[in-house]
Amino acid sequence: MTESGSFEIRFWGVCGSHPMPQKSKMRHGGNTSCVEISVNGYTLILDAGTGIIPLGKELLARAHEKEDRVSALLLLSHYHHDHTQGFPFFGPVYTADSKLWVLGPELENVSPKDVLADVMHSPYFPVRLRDLNAELCFETLNEDDEILLGEEVGGVKVLHSGDPRPWTSADLVRIQLVQSTRHPGGVLVYRISWRGASVVYASDMENYPEGDEWLVSFAQGTDLLIHDAQYTDAHYWGEAPGCANTQGYGHSTISMACQVANAAQVGGLALFHHSPEYDDERLDQIEAEAKALFPEALMAYEGLMIRLLER
Ligand SMILES: [Zn+2]
Ligand SMILES: [Zn+2]
Repeated sequence: MTESGSFEIRFWGVCGSHPMPQKSKMRHGGNTSCVEISVNGYTLILDAGTGIIPLGKELLARAHEKEDRVSALLLLSHYHHDHTQGFPFFGPVYTADSKLWVLGPELENVSPKDVLADVMHSPYFPVRLRDLNAELCFETLNEDDEILLGEEVGGVKVLHSGDPRPWTSADLVRIQLVQSTRHPGGVLVYRISWRGASVVYASDMENYPEGDEWLVSFAQGTDLLIHDAQYTDAHYWGEAPGCANTQGYGHSTISMACQVANAAQVGGLALFHHSPEYDDERLDQIEAEAKALFPEALMAYEGLMIRLLER
């Protein structure tokens, strides 16, 4: 649990596809996808790329300082390596008093528990998922499910399609999701809302050049849109020197992300899941180009903190 009464987003891994810990990109960072959201005392973790490894150390340090235990919800968008490869090195899962909910979609008949059990056994890894010390609660999410967080629902409540929803408290944290086919194998997009503020996490998402109506609708009016922006236009269309055409790879261009941000009238846009080939200098140039398309755009970097609501 974090301090109640706040709504903060902190980036721990922003690099797409694979880690790239090179000196030339240390300002933005070379860890893969991981975003921490602290909302009304709950710790949410979006994806378990290698950014979750330093986050795990931080969560253990915070818990130690408060003589508390680590308690968090891990929300997985999909199961490509760059979104799961940090999990076996996430320190809190080796601590007996940690509690972790792991939620994600069923993709190609594979649940979040199946995915992690598949990578955590010999010969791939020396520790099996079932031998971890922490209390792990797995839940498979389907489109139209909703997750509520708050005392009124007893902590964490996953609502499936057709479940009664009698709760009306504005103080509940609400997590909505939609499943998209705009990434190979499918991907979940999350919207987290509390006290009128919200953030949308749309990593690994290839929009149409003219924009995606469903995403514009889902992200409408959100305070912060975290959006896949892996490629420049020239890279995407194969027009940059040495770059293959990447149409169909499942990732957006910076201009596609800005198009959605403009159409959805979002408050801010965090360009996310950068191409590992782009160094800090290149990312700075791209950020300047993005601001011309959407003035509130910024290039996400490790350590970036965005506060939606103050304590
Ligand atoms: Zn990815
Ligand atoms: Zn992916």
